[in-house]
Amino acid sequence: MPIFLYNLDRISIKHNAKRDYGVRCNVSADWRTDFKKDYARILQERASLAALSALGVGGEAEFFVEPDSLNEVCEIFRFGSVAGFPVYVLGGGTNVVFSDGTLNGVTLSARRLCGMSWDGELLVAEAGVPMPLIVSEAAKRRLAGVEFAYGIPGSLGGAVAGNAGAGGRGMSDVLEEVTTVERDGSVREWHNGEFSGSYRSFSLSATGRLIAKCKIKFQNSSREDIERETEIFKKAREGQPREGRSAGCTFKNPPGDSAGRLLDVAGCKGLRVGGAVVSGVHANFIINSGGASGMDIVELIGLCRDMVFQKTGISLENEIKLLGF
Ligand SMILES: Cc1cc2nc3c(=O)[nH]c(=O)nc-3n(C[C@H](O)[C@H](O)[C@H](O)COP(=O)(O)OP(=O)(O)OC[C@H]3O[C@@H](n4cnc5c(N)ncnc54)[C@H](O)[C@@H]3O)c2cc1C
Repeated sequence: MPIFLYNLDRISIKHNAKRDYGVRCNVSADWRTDFKKDYARILQERASLAALSALGVGGEAEFFVEPDSLNEVCEIFRFGSVAGFPVYVLGGGTNVVFSDGTLNGVTLSARRLCGMSWDGELLVAEAGVPMPLIVSEAAKRRLAGVEFAYGIPGSLGGAVAGNAGAGGRGMSDVLEEVTTVERDGSVREWHNGEFSGSYRSFSLSATGRLIAKCKIKFQNSSREDIERETEIFKKAREGQPREGRSAGCTFKNPPGDSAGRLLDVAGCKGLRVGGAVVSGVHANFIINSGGASGMDIVELIGLCRDMVFQKTGISLENEIKLLGF
């Protein structure tokens, strides 16, 4: 008879070891009872997903947890892998569209993993540290490297997972080391050379692991140089909408072109589905003008993609992430 174990009190999480736990348990009806008991301190049932996303759309998370230690994250991943429930990772919620239904399983926010320590040109920071804080702290310390991230909201973990950036630069350019929590709850450290980034994509994101901690290398600089560099990225943001709630750019830029330009040419500006509307300022931003649903956003995305394809023959790829659809 198979043994289905998920009493985590008896499981120690080994750092830096990739472990094979062998038996993957059938989903047991009462993992929920155990999960609620074990994580009562950090758990919310039926949490509003709209409240967790910058766009303000979505239904509810069956279980929402906000662990404040890496160890607790490992335990939850381990629990999920043994009991067979999905663990969805969330940072600042600034790049996601949630569906309107219930996201079954566990939605884990990394927001409370927010340790940060500076040592000369190096920063070690946990996933939940807000990117704007890293950008401003670096500037204060006259450390150059992340000026391109000026104005990018959300968390460090989310920025690394999507290789967020601007002007041809991205988070992978400044990473020295990345610590991840694997699906089975083990912890791995990855050094420069073992990961890579390309436009809005990061190699370690592929298998759904959690980016837990990063070491970032800066360069000593002067206040003037940092301000000059930051100004370039500030200026680029002037053409972006300030009104309403959005999740940033809807589509990736296709090679050699701009998604915003193509959407504009195709006549998408001002297009509306329910409460979702394409910004009149920048066509690559969808705004929740009030009361939009996740489905409104997804339908508007589809409509825009079709219109661009019909007009130009180019099929745009999503930059924003759809969860639960
Ligand atoms: C006004 C505005 C402007 C923006 N400008 C830019 C821009 O210039 N450049 C740009 O690249 N983006 C931009 N964005 C999009 C967004 O802010 C970035 O992609 C940001 O880095 C997402 O971080 P987050 O913590 O909010 O991630 P979330 O939205 O919470 O998550 C995004 C994705 O990353 C995953 N994820 C989050 N945290 C982790 C983690 N710790 N480990 C593993 N996976 C994780 C999630 O599962 C999800 O798939 C903008 C958004 C807005 C609203």
